[in-house]
Amino acid sequence: MAVIDTTERAPAVTEKTASAPPGHYRAAVVHEFSSRLTIDEIPRPVLEPGQILVEVEATGLCHTDIHAAHGDWPVKPSPPFVPGHEGIGIVRELGAGVTEVALGDRVAMPWLGYACGTCDYCVSGWETLCLEQRNMGYSIDGGFGEYAVAYGRYVVRVPDGIDPYDAAPLTCAGVTTYKAIKVAGTRSSDLVAVFGVGGLGHMAIQYARIAGGRVVAVDLTDEKLELARELGASFTVNAAKEDPAAAIQRLGGADQAIALAVSPRSFEQAFGSLRRGGTLVFVALPADNEMKLPIFETVLNGITVVGSIVGTRTDLREVFELHAAGQTTVTREITIPPNEPELVVTLTMWS
Ligand SMILES: [Zn+2]
Ligand SMILES: [Zn+2]
Repeated sequence: MAVIDTTERAPAVTEKTASAPPGHYRAAVVHEFSSRLTIDEIPRPVLEPGQILVEVEATGLCHTDIHAAHGDWPVKPSPPFVPGHEGIGIVRELGAGVTEVALGDRVAMPWLGYACGTCDYCVSGWETLCLEQRNMGYSIDGGFGEYAVAYGRYVVRVPDGIDPYDAAPLTCAGVTTYKAIKVAGTRSSDLVAVFGVGGLGHMAIQYARIAGGRVVAVDLTDEKLELARELGASFTVNAAKEDPAAAIQRLGGADQAIALAVSPRSFEQAFGSLRRGGTLVFVALPADNEMKLPIFETVLNGITVVGSIVGTRTDLREVFELHAAGQTTVTREITIPPNEPELVVTLTMWS
């Protein structure tokens, strides 16, 4: 994002004192795809029933925000809009009928900003597939502002003791990989291949370990592979130096492979790394939408291919529980928009 510069300086997290929300607040707005975001004064909206006003403390920058700002995906957001689906903040105002959260609660505002709550998907624990869903930073203005409006029913409370700067990336990168490991069905003794050790991958390694799996991490740089080992990977493969599929087959093949790198080639390597009966989980969304999936090997080897999209509120609660219990580590850096130090603190995951 063009408006954001990196700085080493990490602001202290302090409890903001409650004051009446202002009539206007500033937010980073996309007016045109691919042009710079502008910092605009936005009139504070009148809350609809079920909505809440959140004073933003921190927000993550996810690759999806960049795709949103560039209008890269087939279903585009409608400018002007405010990106951000990893917003963390304090509830400052409640719309009519909100019972799920209270003033002063710290909440996370994830990608799934709203769902219908009554369709088959919603009632069966698959609210992330709801056709009526609306998404923070895409079809609902997101967390790149001093304040954001969210739905009380779809935010998730952040437990005490979790740093908001950790909570932000957990709200997408964390829950997305946590869900991917659930979907993969990882059990103790499974070998899990994690393709791509970035913002998502470094969390996937930890969730695979928590599920009992042994991890082989694949990336193109030794620095990331070193981090992967620090986070519990038993094996690493540098795909710039050797064929990861062959290397993982020498280990006996992966029970599950999690595709997190935005390259169809990497998806194909992940497929090639599986042992018989293995599962390939699609998570990353490469701009180039196609990969080669050989039918013969899929059938004969009994391979499962499954897509996994973010996670539910329950998944995010579990992610926060694990983090509060000290079972996960978030690697991140804090960035502050130049000339707007008070506006919004943004995190980028190590990538
Ligand atoms: Zn995201
Ligand atoms: Zn629904």
